[in-house]
Amino acid sequence: MLIPHRTWPELGDATESVAVVPIGSTEQHGPHLPEGTDSLIAEALAREASDRTGHLCTPTLPIGVSSHHRQFPGTMWVEPPMFRDFVESFTRNLTTHGIDRVVYVNAHGGNVVHLREVGRRLHQDETAFAIEWMWNESIPDLIDDAFEVTGPHGGPKETAMIMHIAPDLVRTGRLEDARDGGATFEYDAERVHGATTFYDTIEHSPNGVFGDQTDATPEIGRQLFEAATDQLEALLEWLEERPLEGLFPDPDLEPDSAP
Ligand SMILES: [Zn+2]
Repeated sequence: MLIPHRTWPELGDATESVAVVPIGSTEQHGPHLPEGTDSLIAEALAREASDRTGHLCTPTLPIGVSSHHRQFPGTMWVEPPMFRDFVESFTRNLTTHGIDRVVYVNAHGGNVVHLREVGRRLHQDETAFAIEWMWNESIPDLIDDAFEVTGPHGGPKETAMIMHIAPDLVRTGRLEDARDGGATFEYDAERVHGATTFYDTIEHSPNGVFGDQTDATPEIGRQLFEAATDQLEALLEWLEERPLEGLFPDPDLEPDSAP
C-alpha cells in the first residue's frame, strides 16, 4: 500500500502496524549508471514487497550520507547527525499512525551505520522496532556466484539491478569504460596493518566505481531482484508475527539475580 498514492480516508481505515521506508542516495555511480541508482533500487524493492504483503510503503528518502563521493559532479548529501535526526523524527512520527515496526529498505552502504543508530535509539526508548535491511546483504551467495569481481560500489550487482528496474537509464555503451577506468580490487585489500585507510572513493577509483560491470545482464538483475524481494517479504512476515513486547529491550537485571 503505497502511501503517496492513497487518500486519507483509505489510510484511515488501514490497521497496518508495519511500514517499509525506502532509503537511497543521490551520488555518482560511474559513467554508466545514474546518480539515483540507490534510490531506484530501494524504491523498487520496497514497492514490490509492499504490493506482495499489503504493508505500508512510505515515500523514498533520496538523499543519504554520501560525502565520500563529493568530488564527483551531482553527488548530494547531508551530514550524518542531520541524517540520523531526520530519519529518527520521521520514524517517531509514523508511530502516531499506529506503526510500531519499520524496515528501512536501504540501498546505500554509507547509510547503514546511521540507520542502525536510529533503530537503536527507537528501540531503547521503546518507541518502535526499526531495523536496517541492505538488499545485497540479504543475498550474498547469489551475488558471489553471479560475478567474478563484484566491487562495493557501482559494480555489476547494481548495474544488473538497474538493467532490470530501469533499463533505459543504463549507458550500456560505457560498461567497458566503467570497468577499465575504475578499480577492481577487493575492499579488504584497502586495510593497512589492520587499519581501514580509505576515506574518499576518488582515492582509489578514478571514475568512482569498482568491479567488472561487463558481467552484468538484465537476466541476472531480474534474479537478484526476485531473490532480494523474497528475503524482504520473509523479513516482513517474521516481523509481523513477533509480539511487540519481545521486540523491546529486556528489563535490567536485579542486583541479587547473579547466578
Ligand atoms: Zn549504489
